[in-house]
Amino acid sequence: MASILIVDDESVVCKSCEKILKPKGHEVDSALSGQEALGEIEKKRYDVVITDLKMPGIDGMKLLNIVKEKYEEVDVIMITGYASIDTAVEAMKLGAFDYIPKPFTPEELRSVTVRALERRRLLKEEREKASRTYVRFEYTMPDNLYYLPEHAWVKLEEDGNVTAGVDDVFQKSVGEIINVKLPDVGNEVEQGNLCVEIEDSSRRIHKLWSPISGEVIEINHKLTENPSIVNNDPYEAGWIMRVAPSQLESELKNLIYGEALIKWWLKREVIEKRDDKYLQVSALDPKFKHEIAKQPGGENIKVCFGCGICTASCPVREIDETYNPRKIIRMALLGMRDAVLKSDFIWLCSTCYTCTERCPQGVRFTDVINAIKNIAAEEGYIHPALRMQAELLEKEGRLYEIGDFDNKKREKLGLPRVHSEKNVISEIFKVSGFKEIMEKKA
Ligand code: SF4
Ligand code: SF4
Repeated sequence: MASILIVDDESVVCKSCEKILKPKGHEVDSALSGQEALGEIEKKRYDVVITDLKMPGIDGMKLLNIVKEKYEEVDVIMITGYASIDTAVEAMKLGAFDYIPKPFTPEELRSVTVRALERRRLLKEEREKASRTYVRFEYTMPDNLYYLPEHAWVKLEEDGNVTAGVDDVFQKSVGEIINVKLPDVGNEVEQGNLCVEIEDSSRRIHKLWSPISGEVIEINHKLTENPSIVNNDPYEAGWIMRVAPSQLESELKNLIYGEALIKWWLKREVIEKRDDKYLQVSALDPKFKHEIAKQPGGENIKVCFGCGICTASCPVREIDETYNPRKIIRMALLGMRDAVLKSDFIWLCSTCYTCTERCPQGVRFTDVINAIKNIAAEEGYIHPALRMQAELLEKEGRLYEIGDFDNKKREKLGLPRVHSEKNVISEIFKVSGFKEIMEKKA
């Protein structure tokens, strides 16, 4: 359970927040001003600070600034009676976790607190995996979108409309999504205000703020039947709605664009403290998984939820512990393009199809690894053993050379002599383009 500090100049608000959060087992203290809050934070280590925005003296924004400067690990949630996207984004740029517009219901306060605590838990878990190579939270944010930080994304379409969805950070802090309540087509949504309600597996409702204002012209009906698409593919198949924007130009200024978001996020996550065990998010290629998905057999890669059944059932893994199908998929989903394509382990699969038979998500790992091998070969990353086999095939017409000894034995058994087919094979290599591929060197 967490330690939470409520900061509001109205004692009735502090008391009601305490009443809402204490029964959940949290340790909840209150402060009636920013100054008092700073004193409390000096004395005690809080996990979350929930602060009103408008207060005399040190207001919520100043408090947020100071807390993030001095105690960056504390999560701050803003309560605001003046919910506007400008203040919300400003607060989030300064490192606030989220904001709740006043008046709020007990459930709204609980759900945003739960998300903040879940995010902390994930972060702690990741920190503890110190011996593993990973990206913090394994976020992969496409760099061609606009973001309402840690909430929603917007993509500009060629027809002047926009598509919007839930970003990676939001959906991960919610956990398993079991229901998505979409707006109706024809409804008006407003930037910074509620557009979608998301229900998690504990039946808790989370509110998603709309990243843009305008009329909803299309919604993703597939989410009604299968809400988990948002968890599995938040930036593509898990899109939420299409909107005819009403104030696009001015509202885009309130959002953060791709590359800038990644830099903002890295700064916020204090990546300077990283060591070699972390990955450079900017060096990842978020398009890699889409590239694999376009290859025949690679289509289902994005629905992998990392259960590890493929690894547990792989006979190659039993012999060689460095071979790990689940890890290969994870690396591909993260965008570790170079590391995957240049690796030796992608060539170890024996194509036995056991993993494909057992995968609960129908990922077809055997085909996925073939798709990865095809991309690797196209770029000249071919395992030396395979090159040698191809050379032998071209030279001898077969992998196992048939000599006189073998042919004499065949004759004795009444079998016809086997002749070298090297000209035919060589022609097949040329016509099929295989020779060209084999000659490629990365
Ligand atoms: S069994 Fe399927 S879902 Fe599970 S980790 Fe392997 S590929 Fe992913
Ligand atoms: S197809 Fe490849 S990865 Fe899958 S179980 Fe067989 S050897 Fe392992």
